[in-house]
Amino acid sequence: MNLTDPTFDNSPEQIDATVAAAAAAADTYAAADAATRAALLRGLADALEAARDSLVPLADRESHLGPARLNGELDRTAFQLRGFATRVEAGDAFAHVDDPAVAGGPPAGHPALLRVRQPLGPVAMFAASNFPFAFSVLGGDTASALAAGCPVVVKGHPAHPELTRATAELAAGVVKAQGLPAGVFGLVEGAAVAVGVHLVQHPAIAAVAFTGSFRGGAALQAVANARPRPIPFFGELGSINPVIARPAVLAAQGPALATTLAGSITLGCGQFCTSPGVIVLPDDPASDSFVDALAAALSDARPHAMLTPGMRANFDAGVAGWAATPGVPWRVAPTDGGDAPTPALAVTDAATFIATPALHDEVFGPAALVVRTTSVDEAVAVLRAIGGSLTVTLWGAETDDAASRALVRAAMQTAGRVLFGGVPTGVAVTAGQQHGGPWPSSTRAETTSVGWAAMDRFLRPVALQDAPAWLQRLGGRPC
Ligand code: NAP
Repeated sequence: MNLTDPTFDNSPEQIDATVAAAAAAADTYAAADAATRAALLRGLADALEAARDSLVPLADRESHLGPARLNGELDRTAFQLRGFATRVEAGDAFAHVDDPAVAGGPPAGHPALLRVRQPLGPVAMFAASNFPFAFSVLGGDTASALAAGCPVVVKGHPAHPELTRATAELAAGVVKAQGLPAGVFGLVEGAAVAVGVHLVQHPAIAAVAFTGSFRGGAALQAVANARPRPIPFFGELGSINPVIARPAVLAAQGPALATTLAGSITLGCGQFCTSPGVIVLPDDPASDSFVDALAAALSDARPHAMLTPGMRANFDAGVAGWAATPGVPWRVAPTDGGDAPTPALAVTDAATFIATPALHDEVFGPAALVVRTTSVDEAVAVLRAIGGSLTVTLWGAETDDAASRALVRAAMQTAGRVLFGGVPTGVAVTAGQQHGGPWPSSTRAETTSVGWAAMDRFLRPVALQDAPAWLQRLGGRPC
């Protein structure tokens, strides 16, 4: 597929036709019962698994991520689709509050109120490059929107165009086989930003789910807000995922933690939104030894090629930015690794980090920045400077003391997920998950894009006052 061929980009007319089909399907699909939606989600999971032998090699060719990782990602994607089917059957999409009338005057007396939730309508879904299955065509955004009763128009990512098309054809086949309107699932393709912009501007698009870079997300959010009728923009963006260690934990477990952390920094060539980018350490001998061990483990790592030449260029520019910043020396300098980048580790102090906003930006790839701190207050100040992150990882907050409380408080104010031990790569798909943190890691920190609560993004509450009996009998399902 030639992405520079202008015919790869859908024309405005093609995009309009795809969105029109989604709009035409919206009322029918919103009214679909739990069994219909669950059957669609399970049918998509089954189809994905049945096509594994052709899809995984295709994904590997386009992404370099390797069959082991891609098979695991396909498993996760199918699990996610089936999980949402189960949640729809359990009634999550139709959850409602039945508040019977209370006789008498206000404020205690009130009419009968039935608080239900209305699917928003067609959702524009922007696939990410770094998860060709789990955050792409049939990923979490698509699964949760379909569970909520919304048609989906996917904007495929040009980093994996063949996989995108093959997965979309499979999805369209399932929609057709189940007798649903074709517009329940649509795809638009393009390597030009104009394609995504036209999609977001379309008056029939009711919400946007975006996973990708801060720059792309901020640009598209501005487009969504500039519409005559602005729409919700659920953006999951880049993140630097600080890891904060307290002295005792490094003295006790330093070498093992260094090996684990190096594995997390280089996993998938560092191309994870949860990749640990900033390591906040006390200024003490145990931390010196830890940095030595981390540097040694990173020097031995051999990442694979990055997803696209563009991402490689961004990575090289990011580490060059560190190199050009005074007070940020290398511990492991990047070298010419040919097709693949080599890992990079730089070191700085808290004052330099806090005073240099460019150091708070994600460097997408196998690189991390160690920030040395002289006090817990300084570690808290580093978190405040970062402002928003998908995750914060705390090593050594097991004791209930003032320092633990200060760090946990700051971590909860900074991130959507706070880990007590371990590394932040790996995001479980489950009820308790929160994947989304304050700006700049997400545009809507009160929502999650991973886990069953992701469905709530696409349901808008409506209070039905003194609703007729036939509406009450629908049990929260739209008519
Ligand atoms: P990306 O380059 O921003 O691409 C995402 C989508 O946005 C693509 O469809 C892209 O289309 C479109 N896009 C980008 N800039 C645009 C603009 N100015 N106007 C209109 N459309 C635009 O991101 P990516 O390369 O796929 O993913 C890497 C980034 O995603 C990393 O920063 C990573 O941390 C983040 N990420 C976040 C999460 C999360 O859950 N928070 C998960 C995975 C990845 P074109 O390619 O056609 O321009």
